[in-house]
Amino acid sequence: MEPGGAIDRDTFRGEPGPTHYRDVACGLIDASWSGKTLRVAGWVHRRRDQGGVKFVLLRDRTGLVQLAFEPERTPAEVIAAAARLNPEDVLSIRGEVEARPAGAVNPEMATGEIEIRVREMEVLASSDPLPILVAVPPGEELPSEELRLRHRVLDLRRPELQQHFVVRHLATNAARASLSRQGFLEVETPFLTRRTPEGARDYLVPSRIHHGEFYALPQSPQLYKQLLMVAGFDRYFQIARCLRDEDLRADRQPEFTQIDVEMAFVAEDDVFAACERMLVDMFSSTLDRSIPVPFPRMTWAEATESYGTDKPDLRIDWRIEDFSNVLGGRGFGIIDGAIAAGGRARGFVVPGGASLSRSRLDAINDTAREAGARGALWMKCTEEGFTGPAARSVDEEAGPILRSDFGLAPGDLLVRVAGPDSESSPSLDVLRRQLGSELGAVREGEEWVWVTDFPLFEADPETGAPAASHHPFTMPVDVTPEELLADPFSVRSRAYDLVLNGTELASGSIRCHVPALQRAILEVLGMTPEQVDARFGFLLEAFRYGVPPHGGFALGLDRLVALMVNVSSLRDVIAFPKTTAARGLMEGAPSGVDDELLADLGIRLAGKRAAADE
Ligand code: ASP
Repeated sequence: MEPGGAIDRDTFRGEPGPTHYRDVACGLIDASWSGKTLRVAGWVHRRRDQGGVKFVLLRDRTGLVQLAFEPERTPAEVIAAAARLNPEDVLSIRGEVEARPAGAVNPEMATGEIEIRVREMEVLASSDPLPILVAVPPGEELPSEELRLRHRVLDLRRPELQQHFVVRHLATNAARASLSRQGFLEVETPFLTRRTPEGARDYLVPSRIHHGEFYALPQSPQLYKQLLMVAGFDRYFQIARCLRDEDLRADRQPEFTQIDVEMAFVAEDDVFAACERMLVDMFSSTLDRSIPVPFPRMTWAEATESYGTDKPDLRIDWRIEDFSNVLGGRGFGIIDGAIAAGGRARGFVVPGGASLSRSRLDAINDTAREAGARGALWMKCTEEGFTGPAARSVDEEAGPILRSDFGLAPGDLLVRVAGPDSESSPSLDVLRRQLGSELGAVREGEEWVWVTDFPLFEADPETGAPAASHHPFTMPVDVTPEELLADPFSVRSRAYDLVLNGTELASGSIRCHVPALQRAILEVLGMTPEQVDARFGFLLEAFRYGVPPHGGFALGLDRLVALMVNVSSLRDVIAFPKTTAARGLMEGAPSGVDDELLADLGIRLAGKRAAADE
């Protein structure tokens, strides 16, 4: 293989081979095996009796194969045993592979041209009646997710779910191979560590040897990977598990996997190229698809101005525009008031949106309020003029400008929100995506974009104090430590996100390798110089002995695989996920522990406790 060349997608497509109990895996038997006698092993997927012949679909990871038990050719005791089989019993059988009669060929099934006439059968394990079905008939609804998570082992047997893990394996392997070929070394970093601030709560592990002290489980390997750059490793990666104790939303998991990357002697172009190369290889070897690189880039300022978010979904063409000049100063109180208070009137044109019903349009006001704005108004453009609640702000002068400068044409709709950007952006973003999908304006396919030049700090929503937009180890743009301390909110950073179809897939930054700037950032975040030394002295000390400029990114593997297999829930691509209440329903985690264990750790519980179950 050429260095930098495409990865052969078959490199990772291994198939389970013959073993003690089988000569070949179920799904791999095709017409070329006809006439051979062989052994297969697997689970009873489904059984049916037809005119004296019993058929069993036998399943393993590779697929299904049909077994036929016929009175003329299968021994009577084997037929009798077949009559007693239950779904999910485990069998090993010996039989002859035969081409199915023409009418019985099943083109939907990979092994549909053949079946196996059974001669011998051994039941390796039998199954109790099932709490949830594995062989869910096509089109039938699955049992509730709670039940499926409780019986995860059975749920994981479903062929669709197994396929997700094949894709996950292929994608992970392709990432490993691509990064290895680009000169990255895979290095493991500790699980028992000290806090690395990524903006979430840490999972703490009490130390038995040092009572009163705690390890933190890593929110990411951020500081270790930077230290590996100082240690001269040049290019690092890790398929890293990250643990964050967050209030869970539907699409988050307390532990998740990142493809974590760091590079020395780099600027943005180098990091983007390495990431793009990796993604090209992942898509080609996993899905046999090419993706267009280099990805376009957009600054954070442009993304928030034109799409109301730093995660723009570029499959929808509509852009948010500033209507303040056209609609302001015309005696319309809401707009004039918003502008006088330093806000703007922003909105977007929905081509063909005038077809939406009055009740649908009236609901946009509630949506905007839920997203934090004081409300949203709409108006339709017709041949005769403008109609709807926002039409009052359009006078004889504004109408023609809306048509000529903003392309508003009969049949179109204008949605607009007046107020400060911090209120209008989130609501316009939600409305744009909602209406876009309702009106079929979301293009098929993938739209990738690098969003760059984030502000270094954002205001904490509760206290207003500066909080790191990415994380505190990001390089600020063109600023001295004194300037940074004096006016932190004006500082831009060299952080970036990779966004796919409105979802943040990866994020990273060029790091702050200048100790004085790094100290200033940590001080802006409220740490005294003593606290900085206590918490991050090991990093700053390493920086004193020759630190190369460096940067990197982390890409959410679970989310990427979910996109690849086209499911919305991360739980469908994680073998043993947690519920949204952070519980493992199958194994029962978390659980209470007995007092003796707690005493060993020097811990006494203050509040309510769960009974120990051991
Ligand atoms: N550690 C960061 C994160 O987990 C990624 C990075 O900056 O490389 O988001």
